[in-house]
Amino acid sequence: MDLIIRNARLSDRPAGHPPVDIGIEDGRIAAIGPGLAAQGEVYDAGGRLACPGLVETHIHIDKSRIIDRCAPQPRATYSPVKGVAPIKDTMTLEDTYRRAERTLQECVLHGATRMRTQVEVDPGIGMRGFEAVEALARDYKWAIDVEMCVFPQEGLTNYPGTDELLVESLKRGARVLGGAPRYDTDGPAQIDRIFELAREYDTDIDIHLDVGPTPDGMYVHQVRELTEKYKRGGRVVVGHMAKLSLLPPDEVAKIARQLADAGVAVTVLPATDLFLMGRNRDHSVVRGVADANHLCAHGVNCSLSSNNILNPATPLGDCSLVRMANLYANVVQLDRPEQLTECFDMLTWRSAKLLNLKDYGFKVGNPGDVVVLNAESPKQAIAEIAQPLAAFKNGKRTVRWDAPVLLRP
Ligand SMILES: [Zn+2]
Repeated sequence: MDLIIRNARLSDRPAGHPPVDIGIEDGRIAAIGPGLAAQGEVYDAGGRLACPGLVETHIHIDKSRIIDRCAPQPRATYSPVKGVAPIKDTMTLEDTYRRAERTLQECVLHGATRMRTQVEVDPGIGMRGFEAVEALARDYKWAIDVEMCVFPQEGLTNYPGTDELLVESLKRGARVLGGAPRYDTDGPAQIDRIFELAREYDTDIDIHLDVGPTPDGMYVHQVRELTEKYKRGGRVVVGHMAKLSLLPPDEVAKIARQLADAGVAVTVLPATDLFLMGRNRDHSVVRGVADANHLCAHGVNCSLSSNNILNPATPLGDCSLVRMANLYANVVQLDRPEQLTECFDMLTWRSAKLLNLKDYGFKVGNPGDVVVLNAESPKQAIAEIAQPLAAFKNGKRTVRWDAPVLLRP
C-alpha cells in the first residue's frame, strides 16, 4: 500500500463508530478497516473526522476577486449583474486565470476535492472565462476535479450572440448547462431554451432560480414541469431558491415534495442570499435563505455552497464550505445534532449525489480522496467551523495545515 491514513473517524459511518485506517494503493482506496498492516507512508489522523473531500457544488471562480474594480451602488437598487457587466473588458484570459487560481487554491486549502463552477459565456466575456477555467482545471487536476457549468448571466433571449457561444462551449466539452432567467427579459423562454439545449447536447442542468422580494412568479414550477416532461429527473439542480424562505412551511413542503418526485435538487447559497435579499426594505430585512433541512425532510436532495467570493454578489468570503454551513445553520436556526450532521452531509455525500459523481465516498476502488478535519464528528465540524488539517487527492497529499498549539509559560 502506498499510503495509510490511520485512526480516522469516517464521516459516512454512524455516530460513535470507532476510528479505522484507510489504505490507498495506486491512487485508489484499497482497504478500510482497523489496524491495517502494510508498508508505505503513514498519516495519523489521531481519531479525527475524515471525509472523502468537501464538494463545492456552486461557485463562480471566473468572476471571483473583482470587488475592488466594481463601482459602488445604492443599497435599494443594488444589482450584482450591473456591477460586473461594465468591467468584463478588464477580465482577460490571463487575469481570469490568475483570480480563479487564487480562489481555487483557497477552496482546496479549505478541504474541497470536487467542484462545479459556473462559467459565464456571452459576447461581453466571449470564451475567455471558459478557456481560463478549462486551463486551470487541467493544471489543478492533482488537487481537485473541476466541472464547468456554462450559463448566460446577462440574459439569453435578449442578448444576441450568447446562444451561439453557449452552443460553442457545449461543443467544446462543457457537461453542464446553467441559466439565470431572472436577468432575461423573457425568463420562461430562457428556461425553455436551456432544456432544449440540454436535450440536444445531453447535459445536466443547474439554474439560478427564484431570488426576489416576493414569492410571486416562481420559475421553479416551469423547471419541474420540463424536468418531468423530458425525463431529466436526477439531472436538474436549482440554485438559491431564496423565495422559498418567504413562504409558510406547509407551502414549502408541498413544493419540496413535487421537486423530490420530479428529481430536482436544490443548492442553497447562504452568503449571497443574505447579502442580496431584502433590499426592498430598510428595516426588518428578510434573511432570504431557504431551509435546506426542511427540503431534505420532504425528500429533496440539497447542497450548501459558496456561490461567489469577493465580487458584487458576495463581497466577503474565504472559500470555506464548513464556515458556509455554520453561517447557514445560524440563519435557519439549527441546533440539534442531527440537523448539524445533515449540514455536513450537504457538503459531502449529498453534494456528490447532486453532481452525479459516481466514484465519491469511502469505498474500496474509489479515488483515494481524504480530507481530515480538526473535529471528531460532522456535527462538531459544523458547530465549531473545524479546520481541515490534511487533504489527499488520489492518494497524494495536497494540503497541510498544522493544528494550533497553545504555548504555556
Ligand atoms: Zn451562482
